[in-house]
Amino acid sequence: MTEKKEKFKRVEFGAILCNSFFVENEAGELIFTKAEEIKQANIEWVEFPFNKDPFMPESRAKKIGEILKDLGLKVSCHASYFINYGSHEEERIKKSHNYILINIKNMKAMGANKLIVHVGSAGKLGKTVSMENAKNALKELSKLLDAKKYTDVELCLEVMGKQSRIGNLEEMVELSHIDSRYNVCVDFGHLNCLSQGGLKTARDYAKVLTYLKENLPREKFERQHFHFTNIEYDKKGEVRHLNLEDTKFGPFFPPLAEALHKEQELVSVTIISEAKSTSISDASTLKRLFTKR
Ligand SMILES: [Zn+2]
Repeated sequence: MTEKKEKFKRVEFGAILCNSFFVENEAGELIFTKAEEIKQANIEWVEFPFNKDPFMPESRAKKIGEILKDLGLKVSCHASYFINYGSHEEERIKKSHNYILINIKNMKAMGANKLIVHVGSAGKLGKTVSMENAKNALKELSKLLDAKKYTDVELCLEVMGKQSRIGNLEEMVELSHIDSRYNVCVDFGHLNCLSQGGLKTARDYAKVLTYLKENLPREKFERQHFHFTNIEYDKKGEVRHLNLEDTKFGPFFPPLAEALHKEQELVSVTIISEAKSTSISDASTLKRLFTKR
């Protein structure tokens, strides 16, 4: 029975990269220093981060895309950390739009179309006001995407790990309704920080999947992009990323694997590891744990 159902579901694994993994050799060619490691890991995806480096030249992005494509990898991109749609400063919102548009341009140069976005900070403004700012800004962004004819991009709004950020699962789902190109990126590590270790059993994970199923349009629910990393937390939420050696904070993967195997209506799932310095080998381990069940 299970076998029959699972034919329709594709669950793939990937690792967050660093811009510094791509270096020029003496001949001026761009070299990917993790190519061998990636091949060994036998994973399908990588996520390229524009985090602190939003103004990469398009030519570099193109070359990176070619290298990753030659390795048979699918690519998603992580938007700049400098984006803050929670702000009520017009200048800040404009800059955030600019970061997104530059990120999309480089993402397209890489041959990718899925951008993972941190919406912003709630800061001193508080959640209600900053959420209102974010809604307005994301509506404006829709128009900018239309103007640039970016019809085929997907912006996944990431669930964050600190109380002071926008935001939690419900908030990301709410914001994703603004545009058919917006979806949610559930970061289970972040969710576990927000709930102070609330993700323990397969049932805990199943609740998250059910929430997505009941609150997202079918076509958005069917294809999910997840982040899965062990993360240390305190009362305020996320402290720092760990890796699969962590036995204290979690979250732990086997119960999520169980919940995913049971959920029949997901069509395609991508799970990215953002483990501190071991994202490639951790992604590989997650894949093995998932397939082993
Ligand atoms: Zn992120």
